[in-house]
Amino acid sequence: MGGPTGDRMIRVDMTKQTAEVVPFPDAWKLLGGRALSARILLEECDPSCDPLGPGNVLVMAPGVLSGTAAPTSGRISMGGKSPLTNGIKEANAGGNPGQDLMKLGYRCLVVKGQPKDPGKRFAVEVDAAGAKVVPADAHKGKWNYKLVEDLAGSYPQTASFISIGPAGEMRLTGASIACTDQEQARHPARHAARGGLGAVMGSKGLKYVAVDPGKARVRQPEKRKEFMELSKKYTKDYLAGPLMFKHGTSSVVPVANILQTFPYKNRTEGQSPDVATLDGARIVESFATRGGGMHNCMTGCIVQCSNVVHDRDGKYKTSALEFETLTLLGSNCAIASWEDVADLDRLCDEVGLDTIETGAAIAIFMDSGGMAWGDAEGAKRILREISQGSELGRAIGNGAVATGKLRKHHRVPVVKGQALPAWDPRPLKATGITYCSSPMGADHTAGLIVNPGLPQDQWVRASQEAQLVNAVTDSSGFCQFLQPNLDDIRSYYGLLYGEEVSREQIADLGWNCLSDEWEFNRRAGFTEKDDLMPECIQQDAIGPAKLVWDVPQELVAQAYERLPLRPEMFAQKAAG
Ligand code: SF4
Repeated sequence: MGGPTGDRMIRVDMTKQTAEVVPFPDAWKLLGGRALSARILLEECDPSCDPLGPGNVLVMAPGVLSGTAAPTSGRISMGGKSPLTNGIKEANAGGNPGQDLMKLGYRCLVVKGQPKDPGKRFAVEVDAAGAKVVPADAHKGKWNYKLVEDLAGSYPQTASFISIGPAGEMRLTGASIACTDQEQARHPARHAARGGLGAVMGSKGLKYVAVDPGKARVRQPEKRKEFMELSKKYTKDYLAGPLMFKHGTSSVVPVANILQTFPYKNRTEGQSPDVATLDGARIVESFATRGGGMHNCMTGCIVQCSNVVHDRDGKYKTSALEFETLTLLGSNCAIASWEDVADLDRLCDEVGLDTIETGAAIAIFMDSGGMAWGDAEGAKRILREISQGSELGRAIGNGAVATGKLRKHHRVPVVKGQALPAWDPRPLKATGITYCSSPMGADHTAGLIVNPGLPQDQWVRASQEAQLVNAVTDSSGFCQFLQPNLDDIRSYYGLLYGEEVSREQIADLGWNCLSDEWEFNRRAGFTEKDDLMPECIQQDAIGPAKLVWDVPQELVAQAYERLPLRPEMFAQKAAG
């Protein structure tokens, strides 16, 4: 295969505080993002290690197409052993670091070891000349926005940043990793949020990574002309289509409510009485008087699903306010105002926390009588105080299971230790099979199927195919909201490297990624007992149809057995 040559990877040793640029193995050319992270973790990380100890490995890997001119293709995956699930984890984000690393020809950073002094902070600086570890004690404890504001004065305007807030430094297991968006202000608003990988970064004393591409150009495919033609056609066809995300994911709120998948009060109900005030349409209405609007979070994104939310004075507050956040920090806590949720979203981005895990934890705290339902100011207070290290703040920052333990509460909706996302497995059984069988734990981006009427004999196949399509997408660099299919991705790979990639090959890339992840979890000690839906989801009925999780465990187990390839799977769009 031809295509981009001379690719390299960066190996960082945080015990010695060194960074080395080494050649990227040719055999890994078609591995990027999630699949590359899984392969490195399986080969180089002991699955039985302490996720917050020196033995864990943090991988930062852009997708195969990141840094090219393919539209909406610059996502970066963060991978490691999760301190939340104790299994393998990948979470990806938009923003510009993925594009910038790949423009420089760096396929990934592999961060190992741990400084002897846990009080020390370091940064990794990356540019065309190489990479180095530098001291960063001056930035200890900073919230993400303040950190980036300060870094902006020390690095060129072309640089992008990957960072953690105090939650990651405190090794809280709900901590996220922030990436800066493509705006001039470089907001640290794009988070690889799930699974507590921010705590892994914090455990390595790594406060931020600065990536300066300088004048580096986009990556040149082997079949440049055809690649550009495909991108032009793909963009034209996309823009002529239904533009499902033109108002962002928050516009899905009313439909989710109808489908009983807009959880209310710690998932004791599937619909919320606050659907009108949490509807994303209210955010869109605010653009006219306050400013803000829709934008692309990374260079080259044609979907522009990210809403930029302003306050009443017309000042930037947060981006993006997503459906998942409006659900977990809004309706699930009986917080009725989207503006309060916007405040909570900003606080999570500042402190560096996953909004899904944090919302689930606050709902458990409310459900157990710790705070009144709907107490938005109380929730904001907890988030502001997390960096002070109170027992409650630590529990909320550590997520749903930790909060349930602190409160001795029985209703803790998690799979493999990770909180259920908004999409509810009681009406969406195939999605529930994904939550139980995915190596990622309860994660809608692992394979979402929004089809409540799907017949039972199709649940397993739907889940397995969605998991495979999403694994390939999350390895390609494409954003799931572009909704690419496997044929699209293999066409791009073929033109990038000048050699056809068959349907079997692209399907194998997805299946091998899942297999690497399942194998990592098996070696970490996972068994079928880790695939159970929690009792509350099995027992608490929602909606007039009294929906519960009643899917036999044999069906969940079938998701691990590879099914024959169907032509339809190659046209199936990624969904998350
Ligand atoms: S589709 Fe949305 S989330 Fe994805 S890259 Fe574009 S703006 Fe970011």
